[in-house]
Amino acid sequence: MRIDPAPGVRAASGTAPLRDGFGRRVTYLRLSVTDRCDLRCTYCMPERMQFLPKREVLSLEELYRLSLGFIARGMTKIRLTGGEPLVRRDVVDLVRALGRTLGDGLEELTLTTNATQLAGHAGAIADAGVRRINVSLDTLDRDRFVRLTGRDRLDDVLAGIEAAKRAGLSVKINTVALKGINESEISELIRWAHGQGHALTLIEVMPLGEVEHDRIDHFLPLTAMRERLEGEFTLRDSDHATGGPARYADIAETGGRLGFISPLTNNFCAGCNRIRVTATGQLYPCLGGGERVDLRAALRSDDPDGNLARALDEAMRIKPEGHDFRIDRRGAAPAQQRHMSVTGG
Ligand code: SAM
Ligand code: SF4
Repeated sequence: MRIDPAPGVRAASGTAPLRDGFGRRVTYLRLSVTDRCDLRCTYCMPERMQFLPKREVLSLEELYRLSLGFIARGMTKIRLTGGEPLVRRDVVDLVRALGRTLGDGLEELTLTTNATQLAGHAGAIADAGVRRINVSLDTLDRDRFVRLTGRDRLDDVLAGIEAAKRAGLSVKINTVALKGINESEISELIRWAHGQGHALTLIEVMPLGEVEHDRIDHFLPLTAMRERLEGEFTLRDSDHATGGPARYADIAETGGRLGFISPLTNNFCAGCNRIRVTATGQLYPCLGGGERVDLRAALRSDDPDGNLARALDEAMRIKPEGHDFRIDRRGAAPAQQRHMSVTGG
C-alpha cells in the first residue's frame, strides 16, 4: 500500500510552535498505531483485553496526515508505539512515508516494540530512516518470559533484537522492574544488554488500567533498585539527557549506560515536552491525566486543517502541569482506567 503525501495539511494546520500553558515547548509525539498486541504482559493488560473495534482506528493515511499536521506545529520527534506497532498490517508503509519527511522539520522517527516481529521488519525500518528503536524486554529466562507475557516468544524477540543490530539500528532495551518477578535478574539483564552494545533503561510500573493482579504486589521503587545495583556495580551519574524522563548513569564495569524512569519515586513532569495520540486519534496531553482532545473528529470534519489547528491549540491549553501516580494502597483504583497500550507507551 502506498501513502500519498498530503502537503496541504502541513500548510494549513498553522505553523505556530506548540507551547503549553506552563511555557513548555511540545516537540515530541508518541503516536499509537494500534491498541492490539501479540503479548499480554501481566502489568500492562489482562489476558482477555477488550480491543477497540477496528472501524474506530485511524487509517494509515489519517495517521500520516495527522503527523504532518504535528510536524507543521514544530514536532521534531515522532515515536510510533501501541499496543504493538508491528502487529498493524502495512505499518512499515507509514514508517516509510514519515521517513521521507525526515530533515524537513522532523528530526527523529523512532519506534517502541516488543520485537516479536522485528526480525522481519528491521531492514525496512532502517532503510526508511529510523536510526534508534526501543525494545521492551523484562527477562531473558524463557519460563519467566512465558509467565510474564503469556506467550512463548522469547526466541523471536532475541532474533528481532539481533536483526535490528545487523540492520544498523541502535537498540535501547526497556525493562519494567518488578518485585518478585524479575528483580533478581536485573543485573544479568544489564550485563547482557551492555555486552551486546545496547543501553538499558529501568522503568517503574505505573497504575494504568486494570490488570489481573494488584500492581502493589510487584511495584519495585527504583530508588531501592539503584541502591542494590550500587552494591554490585560502580554507577556514575551521567549528564546524558534526551529531554525525556529518564535519568542516566554510566556503569564502570560494563562500559554501558543505565537509565531510570521513576514516575512514582521521582516525578519527572516539570520538563515534559510530549503528548500522546491513540490509534483512534484521541490526544492525551498527559499520560496520567484524563484530559483529552478528539483529533479524529477534527480530521474527519469538513474543515480538517482548521479544526486540527484549533484542536492542537486546545490540547496545549489543557495540558496539565504533571501527574500524581501512586501505588501505595492495596485495592486502590488505577490512576487512569486507560491502559498504557491504549494511550501509547
Ligand atoms: N508493545 C510495545 C512494547 O512493549 O514495547 C509498545 C507499547 S508498550 C505499552 C510500551 C512500554 O510501556 C513498554 O516498555 C512496557 O513495558 C511499558 N508498560 C506497559 N504497561 C506499563 C505499566 N503499567 N507501567 C509501566 N510501564 C508499562
Ligand atoms: Fe503488549 Fe507492549 Fe503491553 Fe507487553 S507492554 S502487552 S508488548 S503493549
